[in-house]
Amino acid sequence: MSISDDTIEKIRKSNCSTDKTFFQAVEEVLDSLKPVLDSNPIYERHAIIERLTTPDREFKFKVVWMDDNQNIQVNTGYRVQFNNALGPYKGGLRFHPSVNSGILKFLGFEQIFKNSLTGLPIGGGKGGSDFNPKGKSDFEVMKFCSAYMTELHKYIGPRIDVPAGDIGVGGREIGYLFGEYKKITSSYEGVLTGKPFMFGGSLMRPEATGYGCVYFTDEMLKFAGVDGFKDRVCTVSGAGNVAIHTIEKLYALGAKPVTCSDSKGTIYDSRGIDLELLKELKINQRVSLEEYCTTNSDAVYTKVEDYPEGGHEVWNIPCDCAFPSATQNELTDVDAKHLIENGCISVSEGANMPSTPEAIDLFKENNILFAPAKAANAGGVAVSEFEMSQNAAMAKWSYEIVDERLEKTMRAICKRVHLTAKDYGVDGNYVDGANIAGFKRVADAMIAEGI
Ligand code: NDP
Repeated sequence: MSISDDTIEKIRKSNCSTDKTFFQAVEEVLDSLKPVLDSNPIYERHAIIERLTTPDREFKFKVVWMDDNQNIQVNTGYRVQFNNALGPYKGGLRFHPSVNSGILKFLGFEQIFKNSLTGLPIGGGKGGSDFNPKGKSDFEVMKFCSAYMTELHKYIGPRIDVPAGDIGVGGREIGYLFGEYKKITSSYEGVLTGKPFMFGGSLMRPEATGYGCVYFTDEMLKFAGVDGFKDRVCTVSGAGNVAIHTIEKLYALGAKPVTCSDSKGTIYDSRGIDLELLKELKINQRVSLEEYCTTNSDAVYTKVEDYPEGGHEVWNIPCDCAFPSATQNELTDVDAKHLIENGCISVSEGANMPSTPEAIDLFKENNILFAPAKAANAGGVAVSEFEMSQNAAMAKWSYEIVDERLEKTMRAICKRVHLTAKDYGVDGNYVDGANIAGFKRVADAMIAEGI
């Protein structure tokens, strides 16, 4: 039995059965690491896998707040501090009813590798709550964020753990969280990233994940000898921060993004998504995408109930390049088959683990260029680290400087992943390349730091 099989059994036994997505992520990583672990017994001697798959600590706490009708509401808050071998714990906060400790463990685990790949001094963590900001007033969101921070502030700090945004946590929520932290601690410090620009945020943080994913893909296409994005039809899922800025950068590089989606349905606009309208609906009005067709009657809206069986409408639309940018496991084997049949050449994960393992296997078998999340969406955390640097130096970088560093970072990650895959005899396999390159930097730091 190889080290990976032994270890996965131990990990399975020491975790609860709700941690399904966490196992999915661990299994994928261990599968990639087999050649590294087999040829480097030092990692086993230092129990690196057991240590890397066990969070340093997990906090779970009650969050009590009062809604606009004076009813008392109770939610659960979490923060998982996974690994700080390379720097302070770093990773977003997710506010969504589906949040539980298993999902956050999966996201925190992935974050270790992603942060390592950036080459920047940041460790891995993740947090959030089952609170649903949808349909809440600004005042209710503020009340919740204050109550959440009342507990969270005990565990975080600019050199300890620096949370950021994720699903359901944007500039508004980060602003309220920061305000409460400041009130409790009397300290104006860079304890959160993704802050609005007027009080310490970095320019381009909102754009970073989407733009970064497109830069990464552009580099990946070049390595594969494929011409860039000019006139390429692209499909994007999601209609949040990542999707909107992916669409924006695709337009900037000459591509034609034709889809977006939310939790209720998909828009297909064959002339190209109307980006201003999308921003108005999802950022300003926070309404369903169905409204898109009220202004733009040529676009087609498909409700979730009418999606292909076992799949999603967005991946049914023919494209050259696909960008799943909504949520985990949103691209299934059924979807992968549709993409392959329709001649898709690349799939880049803007969201965290949007493709199921079966879908990824199909991409591999069919030589589809596949950019895994931990490499392709690292632009967000990279600019978060730029924000930490600016806060520490009390500096403000220009838009051009941030964009230039983001682009450089994403192209460098792509190159590192590409070359690592080549070195290990799996040329073009960006999943293995990312897992191995991300692992080695953290694992070597853990060994150097002792137990
Ligand atoms: P947002 O909350 O801004 O947007 C999420 C979008 O996805 C919303 O439009 C939402 O729809 C849609 N969505 C949710 N569930 C589904 C579903 N089942 N099918 C279709 N659409 C769905 O989140 P982000 O854009 O910030 O994050 C998206 C993904 O990217 C997540 O996986 C996140 O972890 C990852 N990510 C984000 C980073 C960031 O910088 N923001 C950094 C790295 C990764 P609706 O509007 O109906 O809610």
